Amino acid sequence: MILPGKTIGVLGGGQLGRMLAQAATQLGYRVQVYEPQAHSPAGAVAHREINAAYEDLAALTAFARECDVVTYEFENVPAAPLQAIEALTQLYPHWRVLETAQNRSREKRWLRDNGFPHAKFSEVAAGGDLGAAIRQVGVPCVVKTADFGYDGKGQLKVMAEADVAAAVGKFHGQPVVIEQFIDFACEVSAVVARSSGGEVRVFPISENIHTNHILDFAIVPARVPARVLAQAETLARRIAEKIDLTGVMGVEFFVTKSGDVLVNELAPRTHNSGHYTMDACVTSQFEQQVRAICGLPLGDPALLSPVVMVNILGEAWAKGEPKWEVLLAEPAVRLHLYGKSEPRPGRKMGHFTVRAADVEAALAKARALKAQL
Ligand code: AMP
Repeated sequence: MILPGKTIGVLGGGQLGRMLAQAATQLGYRVQVYEPQAHSPAGAVAHREINAAYEDLAALTAFARECDVVTYEFENVPAAPLQAIEALTQLYPHWRVLETAQNRSREKRWLRDNGFPHAKFSEVAAGGDLGAAIRQVGVPCVVKTADFGYDGKGQLKVMAEADVAAAVGKFHGQPVVIEQFIDFACEVSAVVARSSGGEVRVFPISENIHTNHILDFAIVPARVPARVLAQAETLARRIAEKIDLTGVMGVEFFVTKSGDVLVNELAPRTHNSGHYTMDACVTSQFEQQVRAICGLPLGDPALLSPVVMVNILGEAWAKGEPKWEVLLAEPAVRLHLYGKSEPRPGRKMGHFTVRAADVEAALAKARALKAQL
């Protein structure tokens, strides 16, 4: 067990690292953040921020030697330097988990090889015949770059034969995955935690509404049949076990119109759709991450109240500073801002949660408050 007072290292200085650092310091840990850009959201609340490139092996090694355990808060850390860290200190989740999840080809293959339900797909290597592969999966489909894709970045829907040429032009020379287009009823996600001792806990399933491929609303409890909730929870638990997770993982699902649950994506870290846990669960996903990587008993993920989480993106600054007083005047609303100075469109600047007696009331209030910002 890595007890309070020890040092947790976090690779990546974004908002997920910030909220992890806040949870860790609350439990009495020291936190060091490793992040290429100075003055990061996580660095601002950590004991120390180290600014160096992820490829800088000397800086990474020095960082790892000062930490009792290291984790990461986003997926685009190159997997190779993580191996070097794993040789020096404890690294969770293991680098192999990241290596699988950060590349769509490997992730899809892993799901297929381990028997988890997923959208039919095919892979095209760099320079391969994209047109032929699209015809193999069939139209409509979604073409996604194998590397560095999230929030809809690096993907294109091919809804008709006429779109194939555009896809071939856009992705020419890049390795891609082609997925069957799923005309889903809704999207849901689970945040699952597993400790080194094998204890597993799954947070309540969230129903996710995306706008322009970015999470807009997370609704809990999800408005899906109990059978779907149970299926998503079981899949998240089995994935955590099969991939040998130590830490926290977000699992995104499509729920089809016939009620089937398909795994869309794995993220071996806390997840945007799990931010509601900070205000509406006994334990937050960030505290759970600390507990899991430090080998502490896992916390109770039970939901205390129906809740809706709303992301606050850079667009909210279109007419100047958002009207925070609108949110702050509401007793059942909590505001979280990430301390980012530049509100660019699509950039996640903060979020708020709305609790209410039922989820429909929370959603109506959340929509109304978002419109007033
Ligand atoms: P991803 O980055 O793969 O999570 O995709 C971002 C969003 O694009 C998802 O949350 C879906 O809303 C949509 N999307 C991705 N893949 C598919 C698919 N195969 N069929 C339908 N919609 C998809």
